[in-house]
Amino acid sequence: MGKQHKGRGIQRGEKTDFNLESRLKKENKKLKREIKRLRNLLDRVDIGRVEYLEKLIEEQREFDKTIKRDNEKAKKKWSCHVCARGYMMPRIFKRRDGDFYYRMCNNEDCEHRTKMKKLTKDVDLSLLNQEGEE
Ligand SMILES: [Zn+2]
Repeated sequence: MGKQHKGRGIQRGEKTDFNLESRLKKENKKLKREIKRLRNLLDRVDIGRVEYLEKLIEEQREFDKTIKRDNEKAKKKWSCHVCARGYMMPRIFKRRDGDFYYRMCNNEDCEHRTKMKKLTKDVDLSLLNQEGEE
């Protein structure tokens, strides 16, 4: 009885190991194929194009930096002096007699807002699309 039980146990174990091994072999084969495919791909890569892409990425990075810097400047400029935590976000209203705007602190606990004024092209709207950002 005990012997039988033991025997079955080993058998089951062996079977599992075998399954695992064959699965690993399959995985290994798949990986090797994938590596070969990627190598072939790499051989065909045009270096000039890679350099061009790198330049584009670098330009994009510079652009992002500029945006971020401008954004920091705008935040400093429009930080709420009532709560000192939020920023005065512009809100625009289109009316029949023209476009108007006011600024409202984006800190939920602060109710600071400015009076509605006529929107002109000189109005600084740099925080307009920064809604919800910290
Ligand atoms: Zn505020």
